[in-house]
Amino acid sequence: MDFKQYITIVEDYPKEGIRFKDITTLMQNGPAYKAAIQELNNYAADLDADVIVGPEARGFVVGCPLAVQMEKGFVPVRKAGKLPREVLSVDYGLEYGKDSLTIHKDAITKGQKVLITDDLLATGGTIEATIKMVEELGGIVVGIAFLIELSYLDGRDRLNNYNTFSLMTY
Ligand code: AMP
Repeated sequence: MDFKQYITIVEDYPKEGIRFKDITTLMQNGPAYKAAIQELNNYAADLDADVIVGPEARGFVVGCPLAVQMEKGFVPVRKAGKLPREVLSVDYGLEYGKDSLTIHKDAITKGQKVLITDDLLATGGTIEATIKMVEELGGIVVGIAFLIELSYLDGRDRLNNYNTFSLMTY
């Protein structure tokens, strides 16, 4: 399937010079959305992951349906102030901003094999912060799956030591 036909490119959003890849038009198409998740499921088949971890909000859009299909749990990574219990927190930089991410301290147990998911790899800052939190909690990152990779931002260089998959590359 040509998945790129379901992605809408929005010029200069959220600010000038950014070519925003809008995945909502993929999500709106049931068969295409299902097929995209199936592709990530195929990638994950040999990884033997125990749990899926994804950053809000679009990491949920990818990670939750994948977790359900794989019959694994899903652990949310959220912006500061959103998770109700004790969290681990990490600062990170975005393609267009700065923020901090949090995860529940008891969400990952030592030695657990973790598959990280997100909609899009840009600079890799979000995923780097997510990896840091998973590893600090004792998790082992066995794979990282994206719908989209922006190869011109070289985010993959920051993920060199990890098994990484992207369904679409721009
Ligand atoms: P980064 O931390 O730079 O890899 O940014 C990744 C996050 O920012 C992803 O979770 C995307 O949701 C969002 N993002 C960054 N750049 C874009 C873009 N050009 N189009 C759509 N989403 C983007």
